[in-house]
Amino acid sequence: MLTIKCAKCKKKLFKYQKIGKGKVLKCHKSRMNKVYHIEKRDEKYRCPCNNLIGKDKGSYIKMVDQSFTYSGRKE
Ligand SMILES: [Zn+2]
Repeated sequence: MLTIKCAKCKKKLFKYQKIGKGKVLKCHKSRMNKVYHIEKRDEKYRCPCNNLIGKDKGSYIKMVDQSFTYSGRKE
């Protein structure tokens, strides 16, 4: 499980079950586990500090490169 954090303010955003070793480019909503802080406005997901994290693509969020960091283990 990965913990996704905002790259700007370091707030925890959500936990994500990442499968495979690739980069985190998309986050499938069905694998988002625990949501701490994330706000959705106009199809965009932002940290409460206003940093743009990703765009809503229906079943997944297309993540903005370098807007977030993560810790934890990929599966
Ligand atoms: Zn932030």
